Amino acid sequence: MSDSRDFCPRCGDPIPERDEPLPGMPRERDDVLCDSCYFDDFDLVDAPENVQVRVCAQCGAIHRGNRWVDVGARDYTDIAIEEVSNALGIHINARDVRWGVEPEQVDENNIRMHCHFSGVVRDTPVEETAVVPVSIARETCQRCGRIAGGYFASLVQVRADDRTPTTEEAETAIEIAESYIAAREDKGDRNAFITEVNRTPAGPDIKISTNQMGSGVAKRIRERFGGTIEEHPTLVTEDGDGNEVYRVTFVARLPRYTAGDVIDPEDDDGPVLVRSNRGRLKGIRVTTGEPYEAEFEDGERPEAEHLGSVEDAEETTVVTVEDEHAVQVLDPVTFEAKTIPRPDYFDPDAAMVPVLKSQSGLHILPDDVVEDEE
Ligand SMILES: [Zn+2]
Ligand SMILES: [Zn+2]
Repeated sequence: MSDSRDFCPRCGDPIPERDEPLPGMPRERDDVLCDSCYFDDFDLVDAPENVQVRVCAQCGAIHRGNRWVDVGARDYTDIAIEEVSNALGIHINARDVRWGVEPEQVDENNIRMHCHFSGVVRDTPVEETAVVPVSIARETCQRCGRIAGGYFASLVQVRADDRTPTTEEAETAIEIAESYIAAREDKGDRNAFITEVNRTPAGPDIKISTNQMGSGVAKRIRERFGGTIEEHPTLVTEDGDGNEVYRVTFVARLPRYTAGDVIDPEDDDGPVLVRSNRGRLKGIRVTTGEPYEAEFEDGERPEAEHLGSVEDAEETTVVTVEDEHAVQVLDPVTFEAKTIPRPDYFDPDAAMVPVLKSQSGLHILPDDVVEDEE
């Protein structure tokens, strides 16, 4: 026995030799107590008296700190366990801590969490149990409240130049808007949502949560189809600080002619099959197979007669190849043999060819009528 032994400052009992704390580690005030006094007021776990979980009854988001957070669609018990574990504190000196929790569903909105902990402190195994009541408060998050209230900051109108968008164009534009907004939601942007999609006879109206995202959607529609974007801001209100709040309507106007249309630019060189209209109108002459490119600025268009589209084409029989510039085919309507221009994409060995009959006459279309727009 050494005379330099320590005594417990609380009860005065001598303290057996103990390992000193590692150099540099602070010695806690309680570390000088004997084991008996130390464990008298030792709490392995600091558990809250109760936990309240605020969940959005619409989307399942939970309120954490001062904001709503998406946690994905899981049941409330899982969320309650997670919130309780976030709220628990384990004593810093405990090692080999294990814990388990048994939820007891009291009623629809109340769960009692029976938590059991074990660990090792001062080489002594310790155990503790705690019961934490969890109450679930079902609320409506700001985002769901706004959607339910019909809130929107921008309106994207999908229209077309001198025509109405086709069903396919309209549905593609809606998909573009939905995937653009979904990508932002996936990144955790809770300001991203579509309030409403209204398929009007003139084209879709898409209500979007912010002006910036409305602009982004309109630009992606123009990237896909070509055409123009018009922007019309409307003053809707002033906010609390007297700032003017605008709602912006973006009109994404699809071009008059799109890939697959056959048009006559009326320049005496014959009709053109439109192959692309993003930026500038491009295609090929169905009389010769020569390339055509409109000499117009982006977004503008030449005056032209719309003759039909590749969907109106019919297969017909090749009667005879006359020469480099002419071929004889059966008129698919009258079944008369007709001599028509021979474009360079015509295959002289073909027995059947797709033709378009229009007010400009009969023309052979290429087999691969439209270039892939993707
Ligand atoms: Zn003591
Ligand atoms: Zn919600």
